Amino acid sequence: MNPVAYHAPQASGDALRQGAGAGAAFIAGGTNLLDLMKEGVMRPRTLVDINSLPLDAIGLTAQGGLLLGATARNADTAYHPLVRSAYPLLSAAILAGASPQIRNMATDGGNLLQRTRCHYFYDTAVPCNKRLPGSGCSAIGGLTRQHAILGASEHCIATHPSDMCVALAALDAVVHVSARDGERRIGFADFHRLPGEHPERDNTLLPGELITAIELPPGAPFAAHSAYLKLRDRASYAFALVSVAAALDIGPDGIVRAARVALGGVAHKPWRVPAAEALLVGRSAAGAAFEACADLLLAGARGQGQNDFKIPMARRALVRALEQAAAGTIDNMHAPDARETL
Ligand SMILES: Cc1cc2nc3c(=O)[nH]c(=O)nc-3n(C[C@H](O)[C@H](O)[C@H](O)COP(=O)(O)OP(=O)(O)OC[C@H]3O[C@@H](n4cnc5c(N)ncnc54)[C@H](O)[C@@H]3O)c2cc1C
Ligand code: SF4
Repeated sequence: MNPVAYHAPQASGDALRQGAGAGAAFIAGGTNLLDLMKEGVMRPRTLVDINSLPLDAIGLTAQGGLLLGATARNADTAYHPLVRSAYPLLSAAILAGASPQIRNMATDGGNLLQRTRCHYFYDTAVPCNKRLPGSGCSAIGGLTRQHAILGASEHCIATHPSDMCVALAALDAVVHVSARDGERRIGFADFHRLPGEHPERDNTLLPGELITAIELPPGAPFAAHSAYLKLRDRASYAFALVSVAAALDIGPDGIVRAARVALGGVAHKPWRVPAAEALLVGRSAAGAAFEACADLLLAGARGQGQNDFKIPMARRALVRALEQAAAGTIDNMHAPDARETL
């Protein structure tokens, strides 16, 4: 590994100045970045450690939503009482990912920016347009079990690996970002990108921009009827082949008033189609509407051969997750007041 300069600023202004330098990268939990550095996939010249910044709070917004600080740990977020009560979908998605040790270290901001798990991206001996633009895509025609069935391009067929982001997409989160010249907010649908001709760009952050927080709108409408379903090769410690975040607002008459559905493991970003969600509204929360939603959400899905199975799997998972959500949110915390320990 090349020598790397290390800063641990105490103030945001210093972090933004240091992060704007050529070759600089912010480091939070380090659970993805350090692996990528050890493999030689990412080679920052300067690490700006943001763990001393006051960015780890979780609290209510004036509008009744929730603000998750960028350096709040994934475990602290999943077990936070306000998250558990108003956003059980987010708790379930976070707890479906990684391991207790990793969730204790990984941060909410870092989770959004974790990079694809495409094997070829990690293997510096082979071409990869995401790692080295213009070099080619080794996955196309190669091992594609994990790869995309929606929104891929001829330059990259990678998927985004996060579980948390699938729930954040369904919950219409907003990403708060700071840079030296000001602050901005990015709606979650616009945060991650499809690969197109520039698979090296995972998202719409600009160089030097720091995620400071993730805002959730008021969550009450969906708290009673949500489900996160993750299908994977192992029961734990594995990334999703397909995952579904489903959230329904169901009236006392059993009719859906609002619906949110996002798919993970199938595209370069969490996959949402608002028109497919609209098909659920005004209808009974049951089979026929769920099938219609799945058809539209997966319209245009195309496999690469080895991952063709993901198309029927995603369809069935989607219907199953909607059924689970309609039946009522399950509190899947076995020890309600327990905090994960090593
Ligand atoms: C073995 C293993 C299994 C895993 N399984 C899963 C899984 O099943 N599901 C899942 O969703 N995830 C899984 N993960 C991924 C894990 O969730 C991520 O590694 C973690 O969320 C990244 O957060 P971090 O704080 O450690 O980020 P870091 O590694 O510190 O940073 C990641 C990236 O984000 C940038 N960055 C970090 N914070 C900020 C910020 N505030 N502003 C701007 N840039 C920033 C860094 O520069 C870097 O590019 C797994 C990881 C491992 C190692
Ligand atoms: S799918 Fe994307 S990340 Fe994987 S080898 Fe192709 S370009 Fe690289």
